[in-house]
Amino acid sequence: GLRSDLHLPAGRVISLAECRRLAPELDLEGASGGALWYDYQMPLAERLTFAFALAAAAHGAALVNYVEALAPILRDNTVIGVSACDVEGRNETFEIRARVTLNAAGPWARTVMAACGFNRDVLLLKAVNLVTSRRASGPALVQSNPQGRALVLAPWQGRGLIGTGESAASCGPDDRVVGDEELTGFVSEVNRTFPHLNLRTDEVTMVHRGIVPAVQRNGRLTLRGEAQVLDHTRDGLNGLVTMVSVKYTTARLLAERAVDVVVGKLGRPAAASRTSSVPLPGAPAEGSDLVAELLRDHGSWLESLVAHHLAATHGTGSVAIAALASEDSALRSPVAPALPVLHAEVVHAARHEMARTLVDVVTRRTMLGTAGHPGKTIARSCADILSRELRWNAARVSAELDALQAFYEPVTGP
Ligand SMILES: Cc1cc2nc3c(=O)[nH]c(=O)nc-3n(C[C@H](O)[C@H](O)[C@H](O)COP(=O)(O)OP(=O)(O)OC[C@H]3O[C@@H](n4cnc5c(N)ncnc54)[C@H](O)[C@@H]3O)c2cc1C
Repeated sequence: GLRSDLHLPAGRVISLAECRRLAPELDLEGASGGALWYDYQMPLAERLTFAFALAAAAHGAALVNYVEALAPILRDNTVIGVSACDVEGRNETFEIRARVTLNAAGPWARTVMAACGFNRDVLLLKAVNLVTSRRASGPALVQSNPQGRALVLAPWQGRGLIGTGESAASCGPDDRVVGDEELTGFVSEVNRTFPHLNLRTDEVTMVHRGIVPAVQRNGRLTLRGEAQVLDHTRDGLNGLVTMVSVKYTTARLLAERAVDVVVGKLGRPAAASRTSSVPLPGAPAEGSDLVAELLRDHGSWLESLVAHHLAATHGTGSVAIAALASEDSALRSPVAPALPVLHAEVVHAARHEMARTLVDVVTRRTMLGTAGHPGKTIARSCADILSRELRWNAARVSAELDALQAFYEPVTGP
């Protein structure tokens, strides 16, 4: 479905001399050559995920966040929905009825399956990427770590990002904490793989971490390669489908497979999925120049750098944000002096993007804190805006600031 001008060039094997030219910093002793290939990178995975949610809403989905599915509602051998609770509110439970329930709970998929009576042994491991304060540009480098597994050192948001570290031991879905010892251990693995880096732990600004499906291979725990869609009719339970996803890159295709299984269970005729070719909400029309449009309509106050940032972060959604700032001049200024993120983006996130917490706004809706803690002053200024939008009292503001600090642990931030 991808336009041909967006196809990546083919990869190729390159000589040792070209390796040295492209990556003079690498220790290439013993190497006879290398490989050069191209890949896409997501500047803000959180905004892309949000675009998928917007697309679902545009096609009739009712979106909720901070709602937890607690247990299946069973009738005979059929799941007819789930009991759920609003984790932010009064913790009251309520029912969500459905003819088919899709369990897409990521590492918690096995917890949901267990609540339905299946104790599937889905192995999990902890995966870790480090965002650093090192400035970085140019090609990403890939080297084998001492165990022979590839580590990537890539420029991301102008900084060096290194990953992916994998825990040697299996873990549970809630084992998301990365301790000081784990951080030091991975930094030393990184330095053995890329000796020229000589990275210090105090140069790590953020630890991206998560729990992902794993398998045992050659006596070692490693990432699971194959995604799965499980129709539990085979287990004697109707009305429930589980997805075990292994990559963001292949998530759209897996979702297509899962929805096909769900539609099949509903017994309805359905058109073929179009998600591989229909642009997501926010994608500008082909040939349009969003930045030029923003500057044409708001050029009296909008700087070119900020217009580029708004267009890159929000796509066509930037039009509404610029309009909001046009109406209220207090929202035109950046939240942080070094970043082009506007006060209007914070307000927009609270009013129109279901942001409920400071962590939502700083790490998931804006780029204020996607590469590290934005600093106490910026966090405070953001919390003040949200306290007005979401009617937080002083105790809630303080709790939100603490939760933001905890989000970045073990990195303490500026
Ligand atoms: C450090 C790291 C680096 C990675 N790098 C890459 C990469 O370079 N390329 C790539 O393609 N992939 C990468 N991945 C993998 C990718 O992030 C995952 O495959 C992807 O996020 C899985 O998506 P998911 O929606 O299945 O699960 P998740 O993203 O885990 O989402 C599951 C959601 O379900 C919710 N949930 C759980 N239980 C319940 C419940 N009972 N009720 C309601 N909601 C519930 C959770 O809160 C969560 O929001 C990386 C992962 C990590 C951790």
